[in-house]
Amino acid sequence: MIDFRSDTVTKPTQAMRVAMGAAQVGDDVYGDDPSINYLEDMAAEMFEFDGALFTPSGTQANLLALMAHCERGDEYLCGQQAHNYKFEGGGAAILGSIQPQPLNNQADGSILLADIEAAIKPDDIHFARTRLLSLENTISGKVVPQTYLAQAQELAFNKGLKIHLDGARVANAAVAQNLPMTAITQYFDSVSICLSKGLCAPVGALLLADKRLLSKARRWRKVLGGGMRQAGILAAAAQLALTEQVERLAEDHDNAGYLASQLSTFSEFEVDMSLVQTNMVFASVTAELDINAVANALKQKGILISASKTLRLVTHADISRSDIDSFIRALKVVLQR
Ligand SMILES: *Cc1c(COP(=O)(O)O)cnc(C)c1O
Repeated sequence: MIDFRSDTVTKPTQAMRVAMGAAQVGDDVYGDDPSINYLEDMAAEMFEFDGALFTPSGTQANLLALMAHCERGDEYLCGQQAHNYKFEGGGAAILGSIQPQPLNNQADGSILLADIEAAIKPDDIHFARTRLLSLENTISGKVVPQTYLAQAQELAFNKGLKIHLDGARVANAAVAQNLPMTAITQYFDSVSICLSKGLCAPVGALLLADKRLLSKARRWRKVLGGGMRQAGILAAAAQLALTEQVERLAEDHDNAGYLASQLSTFSEFEVDMSLVQTNMVFASVTAELDINAVANALKQKGILISASKTLRLVTHADISRSDIDSFIRALKVVLQR
C-alpha cells in the first residue's frame, strides 16, 4: 500500500529492528532500563534541556506537560487548531481539571500576541488562573516564524506564564529552515516530540523540560498508566529516530513539493502552494467531485488517502518519488483522463 494518510504509518527501519532485538532492558518504573536512560540522557543533551521523559505517545507527552505546568483550576492558552486542544480528546480538561483557552490561529499558524495578552485573566476568583502558553510547530505542516517564537517567549516571560511547545514535528520545522532543532526548542520551558511520525520509530515520544517539571510529569505518567517496564526495546528504536532520521526529512519535504505541483495540474483539486512547507499537502476538492468514491477507487489500486473535502496528503519515509508518480497515474485513471 502507498499510504498518504499520515506520517504515523511509517514502519520501523531495518536498523531499528536490529537495535530493538539487541536492546538491553530493565524495569523503567524502577529507573532500571539502560536503553531508556540512555535515550533520555541523549535527548536532554541534544536539545540542551535538564532532562527528558520517554512516553508512549505525543498525546501523553503533551498531557503530562499540561498537568505538570498547571494545577486543577488553572488554564492554558493555545490555538483553536492546536493538537492539544482539538485532537487529544479534551484530555487536559477531563484528566487534568485544566481549562483550555483557545485563541485564533493566524494563517501562518501563530497566535496574535495581542490576543494572547488579552486572554490572560486577572487574579480574580471569577477566573481560572492563566498559567501556560502552548504553541505548536509545525502546525498543519506550517513552520511558525522564528521571530514570532522569540516574541511569544518574551511575552510569556513578562506575563509570568510558562511556555510549552507541542513539537510533535519540530524536526520537520528545523529541517525546513535548515536550522538545528535547538534553534526552535530554546524558546520553550517544555517541549514534546513525536518519534513515531516522520522519524519512523514504532512507538514513543519525549517530553523535555527541567528536573522539577519532569519529576511531576514522571508521577503523572505513572498515574496515567504510562509506566512501561522493559520499554528499552522501544527506546532503542527511538534513539535511531533522533540520530538517523532527522536529516532524511528533507526528502519528505521535497516529495511534498513534487506531489503538490503534480496534484495542482488537476482541475478537481486546488492546492494552496503557500501551505506546502514541510511534509504535508492540502488541497480543496471541487464540489462536483465525489472524493469518497475517488478514495475507494484508489484503495483498489493500493493507494490510501483520507477522504475529505480538504484533502491532506502526507509524505514520509515509506513514500518515494516513484510512489507519487504511481499515485498521479492512478488518479488519472480514476478521474478518466
Ligand atoms: C501526532 C501529534 C500529536 C500526538 O501524537 P501521538 O503520538 O499521535 O499521540 C501531538 N501534537 C501534534 C501536533 C501531532 O501532530
